[in-house]
Amino acid sequence: MSLDQNVTVDVAIIGAGPAGAVAAALLRRAGHSVRVLERQHFPRFSIGESLLPQSMTYLEEAGMLQAVVEAGFQYKNGAHFICNEQTSSFDFRDKHTPGWGTTYQVERAVFDDLLIRCAQQQGAEVSFGHTVRAIQTGAAPVLDIEDEAGAAYRVQARFVLDASGFGRVLPRLLNLEAPTRMPTRAAIFTHVRDGLPAGTTDRNKISVAVHPRRRDVWYWMIPLAGGRSSVGCVAEASFLDVPDAEREAKLRSLINEEPTLGRLIGAAPFLMPVRQIGGYAANVEKLHGPGYALLGNAGEFLDPVFSSGVTIALRSAHLATRALIRLLRGEAVDWQADYDVPLRKGIDTFRAFVERWYTGELQDIIFHPHQTEGIRRMISAVLAGYAWDETNPYVADPVRRLNALHEVCMQPV
Ligand SMILES: Cc1cc2nc3c(=O)[nH]c(=O)nc-3n(C[C@H](O)[C@H](O)[C@H](O)COP(=O)(O)OP(=O)(O)OC[C@H]3O[C@@H](n4cnc5c(N)ncnc54)[C@H](O)[C@@H]3O)c2cc1C
Repeated sequence: MSLDQNVTVDVAIIGAGPAGAVAAALLRRAGHSVRVLERQHFPRFSIGESLLPQSMTYLEEAGMLQAVVEAGFQYKNGAHFICNEQTSSFDFRDKHTPGWGTTYQVERAVFDDLLIRCAQQQGAEVSFGHTVRAIQTGAAPVLDIEDEAGAAYRVQARFVLDASGFGRVLPRLLNLEAPTRMPTRAAIFTHVRDGLPAGTTDRNKISVAVHPRRRDVWYWMIPLAGGRSSVGCVAEASFLDVPDAEREAKLRSLINEEPTLGRLIGAAPFLMPVRQIGGYAANVEKLHGPGYALLGNAGEFLDPVFSSGVTIALRSAHLATRALIRLLRGEAVDWQADYDVPLRKGIDTFRAFVERWYTGELQDIIFHPHQTEGIRRMISAVLAGYAWDETNPYVADPVRRLNALHEVCMQPV
């Protein structure tokens, strides 16, 4: 395409990850024309393989549930925490908030491809290999696109949704970046052939293990379908910083420092080169501006510890498209009140949990030997992704509630 082949559309979406795909489907279901611009070709690798049950609500609303259920992904019903010899398991079916209590652990290459195909089947136009280079914001925003042959063209839309994930297209182009309170952490990870005999671990749960000597260092083990598991370690960037050639040995030795993981997968063959990602925490002043809104990781990203990324991405797609559909009908929309504030409510819930995980306070709570059933169900609901349900005191006032609970946990029994 070239400049004389410009495109006009109701909504242009930057990025075909989960946020972009679900937003595209929701807009199509409301009858709007949609063009998704995606710089890569799918299927493509992405990290973020453990979903939360709350995300199922949005997949259902976007008409994607049947395809996801039938895809053969690993079923998931909870999270299993490990710290030296202590363990604590949360079953997400036993939680304060009504709604989905189960979900899946997914290879993202397959999952993301499935979602965007579902959006295409509902009429979304998707241009793979097309990179967004520039934007003119305003009442009729215009995107400058470059295809793989280097040809430039323009997409004129009534509104733009930026779902570009860690690409953070509009935050970079428009200087929207704001400081994040999260320190610079990194993750190293791979997939292993886990060879786990039945019963040695609960494949239906993500395992989150704390390093035996460093409470701020943790691992994930996410069983996937087909006898594979995703395994990774998260720490301050300097802790993981080794030359590329030593990364595999570093991850192998870290796995073997943790007794449970060492026993389960200490010698498991790695199925792909060990990858590293760092400095992923990000924020913006506002999740919207003239003619655009930011979805998912293109807005704020906290930390991977509670697997909240895809759920927040899908919640953002749901909230933003609800507002946008009203706007396209000619109604007035207050993006701050209708989108930014309600989305950040749940992000702030997760933030309170994430910050207290790294100080160790949440670990004291999770591993405490005497737990009240009602409080466990409230914590379970947040861990299952229901971070916006203000009937849960740990959502309504997470900082005060967690601090008070931690004080109780610290009293001698
Ligand atoms: C170490 C780690 C572990 C994680 N684990 C989990 C987990 O277990 N569970 C979970 O829910 N989340 C997890 N996450 C978070 C998860 O990866 C993200 O939150 C999620 O992928 C965000 O989805 P998205 O749709 O916003 O963006 P993405 O999935 O990143 O999709 C963005 C798309 O935009 C495209 N794009 C970028 N720039 C351009 C451009 N200029 N033009 C056109 N297209 C562009 C990209 O190619 C990409 O396909 C983890 C994150 C990290 C760092």
